[in-house]
Amino acid sequence: MSIYRSRARAALASALSELASNEDQRLKYAALELRMAIEAVTYDRASAYKSEFPSQEYETWQPKKVMAILLEIDASADSDSTISFGIEPSPGEKPEVMHDLGEEVVFNLRAIKRHYDALGNFLHVPSIKQTLSGSLPVPEKMRKRCEEIARDLEEVLASKVFNSTLGVFSSFDCTECKERIRKRMPRDKDQIIADCFGCKASYIITRTSDGKFETETRTQEIPCPNPGCGHPAFIFPREVSQGEYWICEKCGGRNEFKLGILHHPSN
Ligand SMILES: [Zn+2]
Ligand SMILES: [Zn+2]
Repeated sequence: MSIYRSRARAALASALSELASNEDQRLKYAALELRMAIEAVTYDRASAYKSEFPSQEYETWQPKKVMAILLEIDASADSDSTISFGIEPSPGEKPEVMHDLGEEVVFNLRAIKRHYDALGNFLHVPSIKQTLSGSLPVPEKMRKRCEEIARDLEEVLASKVFNSTLGVFSSFDCTECKERIRKRMPRDKDQIIADCFGCKASYIITRTSDGKFETETRTQEIPCPNPGCGHPAFIFPREVSQGEYWICEKCGGRNEFKLGILHHPSN
């Protein structure tokens, strides 16, 4: 049992006891405990993907961002899954009996976004605008919301299988910064984009017919705009943004990306 999973259970238990008091003024404490439970569940989930996480994201704590990165790594990270196994009568043949290891219920990104922000609203003094317009949080609504979140969390924490991250990985060293890039290849895809966590480099990973992976840099050839030069540079998509630049290898000039407006006359 991971430390975050037990933290989530403890926070959920406290939230339930706050809700059971049936006192409206205790709802904010229930909301706070539920928020902490969501954070713990997300962090627990992230620990299963530790090697695929940029360490600065892994170490700084923001559940919504962590979940967004989880999805970037594994598109199925926020879907429920069932793990089962069986013995094939002969290689490749479907087993007659499948044994279920259990179902994993994951607190998905949609739920996190919806719940986490809603809970946050319960933790602040209503804004001046809310007070003036009279749109103050209604205790019955808050209670219903908290109960719904508690039920979702109970389901997640009751699942027997958790943090399964089975998958086919491709890993290689970034040609620019040498950082190791690990990316899982979804079963239904033969090509994916992998961005380096260490720098702006980006790659296309393609599954070949023999089941291996090929990586290719995703660059665009841009000629130096110096009229007398035109020497090509290879630029990654994430480098094309306001203020980014490259030094031309031939003329030594600095080429900077600037946002511009191009006017086309009406006729
Ligand atoms: Zn890199
Ligand atoms: Zn040049």
